[in-house]
Amino acid sequence: MTAQTFCRLAERIMRIPAVAYHEHAVRAEVELICRENDLSFRRDRFGNLFVTLKTDSRQRPLVLAAHMDHPGFEITGSAKGRKLHAEFLGGVPDSYFREGIRLRTLPRNRSAVLGRRIRVKGKGKRFEIHLRANSPDAIEYAVWDLPDFLRKGDFIHARACDDLIGVTAILATLIELRKKRAKVHVIGVISRAEEVGFHGALTVASAKAIPSDSIVISLETSRELPGVKMGQGVIVRVGDRASIFNSAATRFLAEVGNDLSKRRKNFSVQRALMSGGTCEATAYQEFGYTVAAVCVALGNYHNCGANNKIKAEFVSESDALGMVELLAAAAFRMKEFDKLTGRLPARLEKLLREAKPRLLQNP
Ligand SMILES: [Zn+2]
Repeated sequence: MTAQTFCRLAERIMRIPAVAYHEHAVRAEVELICRENDLSFRRDRFGNLFVTLKTDSRQRPLVLAAHMDHPGFEITGSAKGRKLHAEFLGGVPDSYFREGIRLRTLPRNRSAVLGRRIRVKGKGKRFEIHLRANSPDAIEYAVWDLPDFLRKGDFIHARACDDLIGVTAILATLIELRKKRAKVHVIGVISRAEEVGFHGALTVASAKAIPSDSIVISLETSRELPGVKMGQGVIVRVGDRASIFNSAATRFLAEVGNDLSKRRKNFSVQRALMSGGTCEATAYQEFGYTVAAVCVALGNYHNCGANNKIKAEFVSESDALGMVELLAAAAFRMKEFDKLTGRLPARLEKLLREAKPRLLQNP
């Protein structure tokens, strides 16, 4: 996949604002992309989307999971005149909510500004939103007024890299595999309402809506932490704030990544515990699935820039392309899962054979 093709896909998806429970427009665009690329898809009754490429039914399914929503405001009611009441859904510290910040209201994409905070006992973050024009009806949600999609050097700046880069990477991987006529079994699970506690993923995992022998890989953007560097490659995420993921599945991804980096000069892979947040892999793991995770380092996580300013998020384009490359290679090599994860025990066996005589020489 070229950077050009990836960015065209990313831009189509990222220009559409989405907030938890209001992902319909993004989902419609994803479905359109699936139709254009001959990828079969279906929705479950909760509105999560499943995109399947099954050209070899004997293979263990590789599930790629990402979410469509991003932190933003859900309208809860209208107040007097041009004022609305809204609740903020998602993790952003209180210090970022300053009156007068510019917003866009949806679905009509009109401008508005953030008003005062409303204190309601026991309720979440409630605010007034002030509309510029007099039409409070039919507004369902609101987002920060930030660039939809901007390409600057190796970086993509956008209101919602989290997790639309993940969604784009799923589509890009499936399109790539389809184009190469790969014999694979891959299921993209594009879920809803992750930012409020992975509601979509929980409904998928609890309903056993994907085969029980699947390997589920969560795709995320994740706050850059010491130990990884933006621009230095896709990250094999060994765990999140809540869990450590499956060792064999993680090792499989790492082996596939290491083989790729030997063959391809421009490919590099990092490995880290990304403990800045909890990702969907934790939800799938708790329901008995074998999970692993990948992510790319994210700047301005959840739009939180320096000095308490709301800013566009950003990722490295080459990291995102690396994610697609790694996942496509993993899908190709699923039938070698045991062989690749068996490399380490074989190395340990060999070391043990060396260890015994050496230690016995001088016990
Ligand atoms: Zn997030």
